[in-house]
Amino acid sequence: MAFVIDGKKISAQIKDELKDKVSTLKADGKEICLAVIQVGNDPASTVYVGNKKKACEYIGIKSLAYELPEETTEQELIAIIDKLNADDSVHGILVQLPVPKQINEDHIIQAISPKKDVDGFHPASVGALSIGQKGFVSCTPAGVIQLLKRSNIEIEGKECVVIGRSNIVGKPMSMLLLRENGTITVCHSKTKNLKEVCKRADILIVAIGRPRMIDASYVKPGATVIDVGIHRDENNKLCGDVDYASVEPIAGAITPVPGGVGPMTIAMLMNNCVEAGAVE
Ligand code: NAD
Repeated sequence: MAFVIDGKKISAQIKDELKDKVSTLKADGKEICLAVIQVGNDPASTVYVGNKKKACEYIGIKSLAYELPEETTEQELIAIIDKLNADDSVHGILVQLPVPKQINEDHIIQAISPKKDVDGFHPASVGALSIGQKGFVSCTPAGVIQLLKRSNIEIEGKECVVIGRSNIVGKPMSMLLLRENGTITVCHSKTKNLKEVCKRADILIVAIGRPRMIDASYVKPGATVIDVGIHRDENNKLCGDVDYASVEPIAGAITPVPGGVGPMTIAMLMNNCVEAGAVE
């Protein structure tokens, strides 16, 4: 039976700590402000944006909502970002991805000032992470590190295997584990002998986007298994990239879906906003 890492509880702790920090900053006359921009009305994006606004409200961060029509051009969006970059009362800027196809996502990511890049997607933020300098870190992998640390799972010297090499999860995840002195292997769709590589892991981080692909045959008994995936199965039930029923009996620790990594992403976004506001 594995220790179940409770992402709901840990994210609630983080949000409460941030709430205290924000109220101290407020007492010093500083109000933290996040601008959230949504282009179009993709239903999933509307849910994510709504959850971010709710988290801001809970913590005491002011949120500015920009709801732009589907046909917004790249120039129009960049003009808004430029205005927000220049506005000293705005500390974080977030453009909900994906954006409609007439807008180049990379241009938008690069238009946001690295000082306000609370998603941690700007090339300057990614570069800073890779050379160990200060900068914003992508929220989901930053949340995984908090789950491990706050569950007293040591990273230093451990064999860490990350499955997935996306820019928002896999790559920053491996850089963060390296920063914590883990020994890192990154696997992807072209990796040979995936099972054998995964079985070496003391800490296995799964971010592949394939429902329940990783079963017990990929896991060393006693390993910590972190499931970043999130899907709806054929019965409309939430599940991850890990086959929980198969892995839980042999893992040392495991994150459930829902209630594992998911709630950490917003908590870390809030953390980045507070950091952005607290620096001046
Ligand atoms: P992605 O599709 O961008 O990347 C998937 C990665 O998995 C790729 O690097 C690919 O090489 C690798 N991969 C695919 N099939 C593979 C296979 N058979 N064997 C080995 N590697 C394989 O996905 P992403 O954006 O990194 O997201 C991964 C998962 O995490 C998705 O389920 C996504 O919904 C979820 N996610 C959750 C959160 C959260 O807040 N919990 C945030 C971001 C992503």
